[in-house]
Amino acid sequence: MAANSVRIAVLPGDGIGTEVTDAALAVLEPLARRHGIGLSTETLPAGAFHYQATGEAFPESSFRAAEAADAILLGAMGWPGIRQADGTEIAPQLDLRFRLGLYAGVRPVRAIPGVPVALADPRAQGIDFVLVRESTEGLFHSRGAGLVTEDRAEETLRITRATTEKLSRFSFRLAERRAARLGRKGRVTLVDKANVFRAFAFMRAVFDGVAVEFPGVESGHHYVDAMALDLVRKPWAFDVLPTENMFGDILSDLAAGLVGGMGFSPSADIGDEHAVFQPAHGTAPDIAGQGIANPTAMLLSAAMMLDWLASRGAGQGFAEAGAELEAAVDAAFAAGLRTADIGGGDGTAAVMRAVAEQIGG
Ligand code: ATP
Repeated sequence: MAANSVRIAVLPGDGIGTEVTDAALAVLEPLARRHGIGLSTETLPAGAFHYQATGEAFPESSFRAAEAADAILLGAMGWPGIRQADGTEIAPQLDLRFRLGLYAGVRPVRAIPGVPVALADPRAQGIDFVLVRESTEGLFHSRGAGLVTEDRAEETLRITRATTEKLSRFSFRLAERRAARLGRKGRVTLVDKANVFRAFAFMRAVFDGVAVEFPGVESGHHYVDAMALDLVRKPWAFDVLPTENMFGDILSDLAAGLVGGMGFSPSADIGDEHAVFQPAHGTAPDIAGQGIANPTAMLLSAAMMLDWLASRGAGQGFAEAGAELEAAVDAAFAAGLRTADIGGGDGTAAVMRAVAEQIGG
């Protein structure tokens, strides 16, 4: 990538995916100008409605363009009633994860000042942890290839040494960066089920092997069932939580519920060379087209994208722009912004305007 200038592939997708993408692009433009960074965007067709119109959910030309870009910003894809011929969902975002080897599903979970948290304990205002969901194997390994006969069905869970090592190193490095930013020691806790399954005992052993490379970061393990309990009992106690694909899928929705819901949950799917940034929510058909979707998760995903681009050598201006975007979201809610999903009256455009105002756009 050229220093200080990047190309972003934009896949708005379906439903509120397109609405929150429009809001993010409207904020990114003045932000880029203000920080003197070059952001060119190319909007690409893909998704359920594209499938309905053309018979193709994710044209190869869109995939190639996304693969060639410096980063990919994705809204959400899928629509009830629009299915592949075999009855499965239209999910090009899953294809992207597998085809681009995006093994680290990064789901930050942070209480935003002014946004109601699910727990009454005042310590819940300090919730700030990151789930790192392995996103290319685990129980999703057999996606679309499970065995189904008249009397039984089987899916296969796969854990590999190579991916577990990468996921673990990614998590420890993330903990180091967070420790530097937050001014305290980092802590990585592997979430597994090593007491029952050999695959998870293996995962734990590989994780422990990587942990010794990072003596400055605390490491530990937690069984997934105990973690479900503790994410409700004391979510403020955690820092970086790597886990298997299916466990991460479930826990990240639980975690989103702690800090305002899906509208506040950003995510990134990161590999060695590529990364996709998208809100954790879906296309929300129940509210699509009404202008009330909360674009905060998308804005925070865009902030993660800017920070990741900086870490890849795009320039310090990108890191500063990402930090400012996150701070602007916080400031807008602290100043009283209230979206419909938390019982307020502010729609998509109002959030966009309030955040743009905070960044002086
Ligand atoms: P998927 O399977 O693609 O995740 P889903 O239908 O299970 O889709 P969502 O589309 O995320 O899940 O919607 C779940 C609920 O959360 C819906 O009631 C939806 O309206 C609400 N929701 C999701 N995202 C937002 C948002 N950005 N703003 C407001 N409400 C949202």
